[in-house]
Amino acid sequence: MHPATRLTGLSPAVFLDRDGTMIEEREYLCRPEGVALYPGAGKALRQLMDAGFKLVVVTNQSGIGRGYYTEADMHRVNDRMLELLAIDGVRIEKIYFAPEAPDQPSRGRKPSPQFLFDAREELGLDLAQSCIIGDKLIDLECGWNAGVRQAILVRTGYGKKLEQSQPEAVARAWVVDDLTAAAARIAGVDHAR
Ligand SMILES: [Mg+2]
Repeated sequence: MHPATRLTGLSPAVFLDRDGTMIEEREYLCRPEGVALYPGAGKALRQLMDAGFKLVVVTNQSGIGRGYYTEADMHRVNDRMLELLAIDGVRIEKIYFAPEAPDQPSRGRKPSPQFLFDAREELGLDLAQSCIIGDKLIDLECGWNAGVRQAILVRTGYGKKLEQSQPEAVARAWVVDDLTAAAARIAGVDHAR
């Protein structure tokens, strides 16, 4: 159990972007055969679980709203990812997704913090003890908008390009190579307390 959970009864969480963070970025991925976890991703998430964090995925899936693929296609991709993660004993509490195209009204499309607020209520989370990990500025902004403790940019997916093109925009974030480095830093900080 995480120390924060013992005090408040609320769990800290790690919110995760899907594409470019957990699985290889492939534009408008819609086929389960195309799902490839980044090396070490399963073990990294397992480490976070073991440190007492609940794992929640928050993903923008505008390909649905743009008509490139269906919601059922996305669920098949998600299921394949969960299957691969299960090899390392990883449990994802819930996958929140925003199916809208960028020009459509959306309740939860990142950088909106809405899904993090939803997760707080549904899963009993302490956002102030939680982190978000992603490869785009909207992921970091989503976390900042929700008041999480730390936003973390990975250099996988679009992350490296963002770090180079907008260093001032990511100055408040931790910038790390990948999920493995992110997990080590989160778990390391917690163990140090
Ligand atoms: Mg991404």
